Amino acid sequence: MDIATRYQPWLPSPLQDVHDEWPAGRGVELRLKRDDLIHPLVPGNKWRKLTPNLRAAVEQGHTRVLTFGGAYSNHLRAVAAAGAAYGLSTVGVVRGDELADAPRNWSLARAEAHGMELAFLDRTGYRATLRALDDPATRRALEERWGRCWVLPEGGTNVLAARGAAELPAELPDLGERDVVCCAVGTGGTLAGIAAGLPDGARALGVAVVRGARYLDDEVTRLHEQGWGRSFGNWRIDHDHHGGGYGRVPAELDAFAAAFEDRHGIALERRYVAKALWCVYDLVERRAPEPGTRITAVITGPPDPVTSDG
Ligand SMILES: *Cc1c(COP(=O)(O)O)cnc(C)c1O
Repeated sequence: MDIATRYQPWLPSPLQDVHDEWPAGRGVELRLKRDDLIHPLVPGNKWRKLTPNLRAAVEQGHTRVLTFGGAYSNHLRAVAAAGAAYGLSTVGVVRGDELADAPRNWSLARAEAHGMELAFLDRTGYRATLRALDDPATRRALEERWGRCWVLPEGGTNVLAARGAAELPAELPDLGERDVVCCAVGTGGTLAGIAAGLPDGARALGVAVVRGARYLDDEVTRLHEQGWGRSFGNWRIDHDHHGGGYGRVPAELDAFAAAFEDRHGIALERRYVAKALWCVYDLVERRAPEPGTRITAVITGPPDPVTSDG
């Protein structure tokens, strides 16, 4: 079966200008990089991060991919769908053993519908496994249960994933001194790639969606050292727009997102994308960037479907 015919992405993803009164009033241009439209089942940064990994897995003769995620993980759904397109079987290790016997939420149900086998771990065991993921003993234990598999960490972030994300800036013509490319940060792979892919002068701004996640700065630095053998000084992470923590959407953020949706007719995913845009608007308002600054906000994924169990 020809993978390409079933896995055709919309690339380069569209670039869309945003005409809004007050970023414009401050001499700032804003545009959206619509990565949410790349693929209906493997959208946004997930397509960019997963494709190089699955290609490598197949090339190295793997038949199974194993990864990790929470109850509503975008990453788990994407791995399930992309793995199926590549003819790989998939295993999703889910955080929270209480979920094992509960009715499946829409997100886990979708992952299963794409053939993903789910395994549930209690939070302590889950954390311990992830922390020791590179230890030979952990790998042996995983392989004893699941056989030989390509192991992707939580969120799918590794050097290959960051290299996939590094292809994004090449889709933005004439980037230079006046440009800031902004994205949400969950595990840091997308930001690391974007920063590494930027031409000289342009900068990357990541918006942490997790509260107090200073380790993300180290993670981005580590990915640069591992993947590019150097560090980059062209990026930073904002730690002030997580909205109270991962998955939290305070009323103020929701109101901002709803107003943006009304003005522009673009539905915003709330856990990541809305926080990144919230940060952009807040910085334009409070920090008054130099006139002429052009901000490209990467829309890293589509909104969740409307469901009753969300
Ligand atoms: C997974 C995800 C992110 C986080 O990307 P990282 O590479 O983990 O930082 C951002 N936005 C959306 C919509 C996502 O699904």
